[in-house]
Amino acid sequence: MKIARMETFQVPPRWLLLRIETDDGVVGWGEPVVEGRAGAVEAAIGELADYLIGRDPLRIEDHWQVLTKGGFYRGGPVLSSAVAGIDQALWDIAGKARSLPVYDLLGGPVRERVRIYGWIGGDRPDELADHARRQIDGGLTAVKMNGSGELTAIDTPARTRDIVQRVEAVRVAVGDDHDIALDFHGRFTPAMSRRVLPLLEPYLPLFVEEPVVPELTRDIGRIAASTSIPIALGERLFSRWDFRDALQAGIAVAQPDLSHAGGISEVRRIAAAAETYGVSVAPHCPLGPISLAASLQIDVAIPNFLIQEQSLGIHYNESSDLLDYLVDTSVLELRDGHIDRPTGPGLGIEVDEALVRRVAKEHRWRSPIWRHPDGSLAEW
Ligand SMILES: [Mg+2]
Repeated sequence: MKIARMETFQVPPRWLLLRIETDDGVVGWGEPVVEGRAGAVEAAIGELADYLIGRDPLRIEDHWQVLTKGGFYRGGPVLSSAVAGIDQALWDIAGKARSLPVYDLLGGPVRERVRIYGWIGGDRPDELADHARRQIDGGLTAVKMNGSGELTAIDTPARTRDIVQRVEAVRVAVGDDHDIALDFHGRFTPAMSRRVLPLLEPYLPLFVEEPVVPELTRDIGRIAASTSIPIALGERLFSRWDFRDALQAGIAVAQPDLSHAGGISEVRRIAAAAETYGVSVAPHCPLGPISLAASLQIDVAIPNFLIQEQSLGIHYNESSDLLDYLVDTSVLELRDGHIDRPTGPGLGIEVDEALVRRVAKEHRWRSPIWRHPDGSLAEW
């Protein structure tokens, strides 16, 4: 079997899909994208295809080594995401060629269902509480919210208390039998982090995500030591080497993204590295159905899985949503806040290729640019 063709498709709302076809007709799908940089990743795929066309798709590890290291320059979001999508598609092919789910090629399942959480949004505490209640009533057992809007380096008591009141409102709404996770998108300085996180401890969040920007990952130990709240991060780290400082510093939850951190091959290794520090894994996934399907294969295969993100109804998905590109949406259906272990071959999904071809066109989704009142750039 040889790789015969590689095609990419930019599709709404902000995704890039990759189709790899072999000379004997097996098709694998991947989702290689950096949010806001779909065109750059697409160009990288084109460059990597020069090496892959004509080669055996089943030599996944050797291809991973060549694609990540063979170009001399390595790492970073664009290259790592391009490799991630290729890796997903090759595992999809490997599973389909042997009529097995990917997790069966990784040692078999260790769980029967995957716990997921849903996003909640709203400007005011009562709006957030309402949304949380609706998600719990809909069957979810955990929700995640943005912990704040933009923040200055040491923000006012009023802004600080607003953060606390929002969390308090959601805790009251969902009760103690459900979980709340808080994402700060790197908006805290270390000083704000040490000021605010202890105030949130009474509400027992499942975790606090990215309190500071990834450039400060090396210093995350000081923040972890300042609070009893479990610290999560990793959506902007791209390899097991990127995770090394964070694991040593004492994070509680690693959040590699299957579409950014080198795909199924590398996220499985990140999970094993995390396990040696007693760290749980909660794959980041605000993206599309292939990224989620790849995440589920890992979730089912690793012992230290915690909870899975997914983008159903997420604020980014304005023009189309998670399930639009699947022939059979039941494989990603929620039951009691979980998705059942997928049983189909490869990634366990069937992509609606006709729809993908019909709607594919360059999109220009970009991350919002936020500014402080004085005009300087704020972390989004
Ligand atoms: Mg996040």
